[in-house]
Amino acid sequence: MRENYDVVVIGAGHAGCEAARACARLGLKTAMVTMNLDLIAQMSCNPAIGGIAKGHLVREIDALGGVMGEVADAVGIQFRLLNTSRGPAVWSPRAQMDKKGYRVRMREVLEREPNLSIKQAEVASLTIGEDRRVTGVLLRDGRTIASRAVVVTTGTFLNGLAHVGESKYSCGRNGEAPSQLLGDQLRSLGLNWTRLKTGTPPRLDGRTIDWSKFEPQPGDAEPTPFSFLTGKIDRPQIDCHIGYTTDETLRVLREAIPRSPLYSGQIEGVGPRYCPSIEDKVVKFPDKARHQIFLEPEGLDTNEVYVNGMSTSMPIDVQAAVVASIPGLENAEMIRPGYAIEYDAIDPRELRHTLEVKSLPGLYLAGQINGTSGYEEAGCQGLVAGLNAACGLLEREPVIIARTAGYTGILIDDLITKGADEPYRMFTSRAEFRLHLRIDNADERLTPIGRRAGLVT
Ligand code: FAD
Repeated sequence: MRENYDVVVIGAGHAGCEAARACARLGLKTAMVTMNLDLIAQMSCNPAIGGIAKGHLVREIDALGGVMGEVADAVGIQFRLLNTSRGPAVWSPRAQMDKKGYRVRMREVLEREPNLSIKQAEVASLTIGEDRRVTGVLLRDGRTIASRAVVVTTGTFLNGLAHVGESKYSCGRNGEAPSQLLGDQLRSLGLNWTRLKTGTPPRLDGRTIDWSKFEPQPGDAEPTPFSFLTGKIDRPQIDCHIGYTTDETLRVLREAIPRSPLYSGQIEGVGPRYCPSIEDKVVKFPDKARHQIFLEPEGLDTNEVYVNGMSTSMPIDVQAAVVASIPGLENAEMIRPGYAIEYDAIDPRELRHTLEVKSLPGLYLAGQINGTSGYEEAGCQGLVAGLNAACGLLEREPVIIARTAGYTGILIDDLITKGADEPYRMFTSRAEFRLHLRIDNADERLTPIGRRAGLVT
């Protein structure tokens, strides 16, 4: 069975959704293939969008005609404008999401696109012509899809290997199957690649937390939306809660360091320096007497609570002891343990500014596969890769965002010129023209580019 499309997007994460919608919006017949239709735009880690510099990226995605901002505005449950004690250039919106709501809303938005077909299947390999031009994909179930361009946005799935203490198992994320066949093919195409690592904290049952021991952190009275098109946020807003580790937490962690896959040599991939696990914090900052944690509800109709600041790959018994050492969590039930995941990433120096692979015309890469970490970093790349895949086929000018025009341009320029030897995340300090790259002028900077490309109507 053979189908024909203009563009195939592999993956329906934060990069894939933006890429697929951009191609479809530009009038191209687009197929988005994902391992699990129910997990479109799944938030693998924290249930939040935005944050310092990341909020800037969401504004830029929105200004260019992408979807992340409007979906986040529709399902956000606590909005805060960060950094307001400093100048407006570094103010940045962040919002807790209803995690399930985010997935459902994104799927609704994508299903409304007439040129977009969404398919559940595993892509086993790319098909490549003799001239090294990509010609489509082969699915694991035997079907082939022919296309003139392919955008790969496979996140942490390529040869994914999860670690919890001494145990390790193959997975893409949170128990989902990894992408081994495609991972092995990409390793064989002559591109430089590396192994990176990221991690996530345990999730708790909110009914078993003594909330009175934590300091409530309300959202802003007047929520700041991400999208320039959102009039007002009128959903009910929740509080998050702040707490601290204790001497006992540090003792438990120090004692268990030899059992940590991070320190025993079991994990080979490089982790995010600026988002360290709790065991990493204890080792790297031995003088720090306590570390802050945030309890973040995962949605309005669930008891699941995300423990921000406690990312860990320690054995489950150690995780339980760490949780119990925190005042208010003595009786907390852990409903999912934390874990770390190692995965293949392609050296982004293999890419052009358009995110096309230099040596494989028609093949574009976006998101965590390029060595970044974060939904927003993935989203802006997906948008640029999708726009350029479409513009390439439509014989339009490529969409290249200058470092002076946006954090999106800085991120892509950094990646393709310097590579990523650790997971790359955005900071305002990466911008040479920080005073100019503000959230309030993202539309002035970028909407003309989105309009020229045909994405903003
Ligand atoms: P993803 O959102 O991972 O999406 C990948 C998509 O590809 C999925 O839809 C999957 O089904 C699909 N796919 C993969 N292989 C195939 C195939 N062969 N065929 C078809 N479909 C395929 N970010 C942070 O900013 N901070 C953190 O602390 C943080 N911690 C993390 C912890 C963990 C355990 C994980 C897994 C991720 C973490 N992240 C964190 C990263 C964040 O989740 C990613 O950066 C972001 O989701 C990447 O988006 P993406 O679109 O590249 O990939």
